[in-house]
Parts: sequence; structure tokens; C-alpha cells
Amino acid sequence: MRRKIIAGNWKMNKDHREGAALAKEIAAGLAAARTSCEIVLIPPFTTLPAVIDAIHGSAVKAGAQDLYFEDEGAFTGEISGRMLRALGCTHVLVGHSERRHVIGEGGADLSKKLRAALRNNLRPIFCVGELLGERESGRAFDVVTGQVRECCEGLEPEEFSRVVIAYEPVWAIGTGKTATTRDASDMHGIIRILLKELFGTAAADQTPILYGGSVKPESAADLLADVEIDGLLVGGASLKAESFLGIIPR
Ligand code: PEP
Repeated sequence: MRRKIIAGNWKMNKDHREGAALAKEIAAGLAAARTSCEIVLIPPFTTLPAVIDAIHGSAVKAGAQDLYFEDEGAFTGEISGRMLRALGCTHVLVGHSERRHVIGEGGADLSKKLRAALRNNLRPIFCVGELLGERESGRAFDVVTGQVRECCEGLEPEEFSRVVIAYEPVWAIGTGKTATTRDASDMHGIIRILLKELFGTAAADQTPILYGGSVKPESAADLLADVEIDGLLVGGASLKAESFLGIIPR
């Protein structure tokens, strides 16, 4: 059984004061309710220390939204995996669709970022997903498996065993359109077949594959009931304690 993971990507929202208040509210709500899921909050860099303080003593974990692929040096404006680990982060997003499509990051850099996360003992949440045109032209499976292969191929199975995959169709992120559970489940199944080919059955079977894209409390239960969907990466609905807590099964 893979433990379900619910991660909240706050994107560029919540300063350190707002973030501390939200993290405290979420941690308190979870303490009262109890869940078997692993919960990860992913605030902006400058909010991370306040969130890490706020969740201290709870089971909630903290992750970053990005990292640089070098550990230190003359890379003005960048933050390394080593720094994130020292701060107390356990997870880091790599290749979120906004990094790929708004900032313009490509596979070569994402490959290096994935390895930097693993080298620094962070659990990368590696995001993949197709554009609307790619889905409509029947290329979604090829695009997504291509993204996984491009960055994950060549990792040792032991390294790969710490990777979390998040399938996030780009057309579903922040748009209010959610993939059907069937579509998400089919894509997760295809990704898992590729993981078997690359890393063997044991590694593939234990890899969590999350779904992300306009998940709301109303759509979460159906998605989480699917055996192929090992958790959720939540954007907009993670910015309020009530809606984020409403997504987490008890
Ligand atoms: C995300 O940011 O990863 C995401 C899925 O956003 P939203 O839930 O707002 O679509």
C-alpha cells in the first residue's frame, strides 16, 4: 500500500506572517481530525522559515517550490537544495508547469535539479503534464512519458525510489477544469508501466504518483478513491485552511 500524499503548492502567495497563520490553522485542524495521509506545505522561499516554525511538533512537512542544481557558488538569486535541507525542508517541486511554461525551464535543467534534490536528501515532487493541444491531438501519453524518461532515465533504482511524480495536465492547472478520475488514472497507469521498464517492478510499485489540476474538496474524494492515484498536488484550494482540510481524507 502506498501512503497517500496531499501537498499544497501556495505558488507566489502568502508572506511570512500570512503563511505562519495558515500553517498553524492547518496543523491544528489536522491534529484534531487525524489522517493517515502525509501532508506537505509548499510556500514561497521567504515564507518557508515561518511555516517550518509553525508546523514544528506536528506531522506536517514543508517543501520548496524550486531549487537550483548547484549546491553553492556564484549563482545570484538562486537557492540550493543544501540550503533547503538545512532549513528543514523535506520535499521540493521540480518542473512545475509554471516553471516549464511561464519561466521557460527545460528538461536539461530539470534533470539536474532532480539530481540536486536527491543529492541533498530532499524528496523531489517531479511534475509532468501535457498542454491542451497535446491532449486534443492524442499526444498526451507520449508527451508525459517523454518528460518522465527525459529526466528520470539513468537514475539508480535506489535514487529513484525517493522520487514522487505529480501528473498535472497543464490545461487543468488554475483553470477550474479537473481531469476526470478515469483520465488521471489512465495516465498514472501509463507512467507506472514506463517506471517498471526503467527501474523494475518493485521501484515502480512503490512510487507515489499524485494528480494535480484544480482539485477542490468536491472532487478530491473520487480522485483519491482510485488505486492509481496516490495523492494530490493542490494549488488554489490549498490557500485556505478550510478548503485544504476539506480535501484531506480522515
Ligand atoms: C498546482 O499549482 O500544482 C495546481 C495544481 O494548481 P491548482 O490546484 O490551482 O490547479
